[in-house]
Amino acid sequence: MNDCLFCRIMAGEIPSTKVYEDDFCYAFRDINPQAPVHVLVISKQHVGNLTEAAALPDAALAGILRAIPEIAAREGLGNGYRVVSNCGPDACQSVQHLHFHLLGGRPMADQMA
Ligand code: 5GP
Ligand code: ZN
Repeated sequence: MNDCLFCRIMAGEIPSTKVYEDDFCYAFRDINPQAPVHVLVISKQHVGNLTEAAALPDAALAGILRAIPEIAAREGLGNGYRVVSNCGPDACQSVQHLHFHLLGGRPMADQMA
């Protein structure tokens, strides 16, 4: 049994507010939004984070990267958005399944952290 939180969300075992899905990724609203739009874009295949994402097929990596601006457009983020992927302890990654935070709907701070 897979005890990964995001795998369980994708499987529908834990409810989520889906905003997008294709062959390579699933996207849903963060439960604790840090901006008016805060979407998590996760890989369909389980990998721990970007460091491990070399294991993904090139088509999956490209597909996820292409999906992010598509989701941003659907969310009305024509004025810009920020994409963050926390990798490992120093970045405070809390869920060990590759995900990109898509943040927008307000001006972001001009520093990264
Ligand atoms: P990380 O800290 O690993 O970069 O990001 C994990 C994100 O997952 C956090 O922003 C957190 O709010 C979100 N999150 C944790 N559990 C759930 C959940 O059950 N549902 C949703 N929609 N988001 C979650
Ligand atoms: Zn997973």
